[in-house]
Amino acid sequence: MNPKPNIQNLLEKESFSHDELVTLLSVDKAEQELIFEKASQVKQNTVGNKVYLRGLVEYSNICTKNCLYCGVRSGNKNIRRYRLTENEVLEAAQFVLDHHFGSMVIQGGELSSTQNTRRIGQLVTKIKQLSQGKIGITLSMGEQSRETYRYWFECGAHRYLLRIETSNPDLYKKIHPMDTFHSFEKRLQALDDLRNEGFQVGTGVMIGLPFQTNDDLANDLEFFKNFDIDMIGMGPYIEHKNTPLYQYKDLLLPPLDRFYLSLKMLALLRITMPDINIAATTALQSIDKLGREKAIKIGANVIMPNITPGRYRDDYLLYQNKPCTDENADDCKTCLEARIALAENEIAYGEWGDSKHYGTRDKGQGTSEDR
Ligand code: SF4
Repeated sequence: MNPKPNIQNLLEKESFSHDELVTLLSVDKAEQELIFEKASQVKQNTVGNKVYLRGLVEYSNICTKNCLYCGVRSGNKNIRRYRLTENEVLEAAQFVLDHHFGSMVIQGGELSSTQNTRRIGQLVTKIKQLSQGKIGITLSMGEQSRETYRYWFECGAHRYLLRIETSNPDLYKKIHPMDTFHSFEKRLQALDDLRNEGFQVGTGVMIGLPFQTNDDLANDLEFFKNFDIDMIGMGPYIEHKNTPLYQYKDLLLPPLDRFYLSLKMLALLRITMPDINIAATTALQSIDKLGREKAIKIGANVIMPNITPGRYRDDYLLYQNKPCTDENADDCKTCLEARIALAENEIAYGEWGDSKHYGTRDKGQGTSEDR
């Protein structure tokens, strides 16, 4: 039998083998603090203690996909569908400008109609005009054609979030309908297309899914590195009762275990990819009220305060117990500074906060700041 590895010694290494990652993901509570300390040091030495804000606009919950874990899947008939008006999005952009957030994220269900493509392109163009190019724009609108990505990039969006949800193709099949419309290969192709069109590319996974193992999670970390990803948003899987995956709820780890497993993933990601952007997701906060602050302390450097008009918040429940659905945008901003100071970090107002990693990787195009 192999002797138990010394975690402190393991953490002195610059990179980890697959088995070492599995070992680190499996450590107990006392040893996980060593990983958190190491990740915190790496963060300080690379991206520093600045936290970048992205005002999050949940643009629409109308989606043609039917992912088995998602509360806004097309098969869920128990929600009111909505799409923000152009004015509502532009008001949110004005809020971002007035409060010096620097960037915004426009997120919505996946639609591939020409009308939707144009509508999003026009929104991006108008936000750029309204802010005289000051607001950095991230889109998160699912899988689209390469031409659509190119059009949105030309309109002025420069970052895109498309979560892979799991890098294990078999697990991907278990959490999506078995049809060509929900294809792992297409998701990979979309990530490639985004990168080739010049976007800073973000992805992420759910942590603590039914049937998922630490071996899968180690593979996820390796996938991010091999794919040379610029930004990550990942957090615990939180079940939603109006979804098919809910039937496996008895297979899940307790919420707090999923939370700490997520923090370990986040810390190991910071150690293995020191210069990328990592978001402290609201899913962390829905298990532990200080979840995002804990994530910032150990490695995250991006936070996405929800600035969707309050009356729509309850209709965008990708998962249940989502925090802050009853707050308005001002409420969220007021508590943010205190929360981030609590994590011994500070908000970088008025900065786009692009991924340092994107600035260094070979892409054959100018960086967003050059345009
Ligand atoms: S996860 Fe995204 S693509 Fe899938 S159903 Fe939900 S909103 Fe649509």
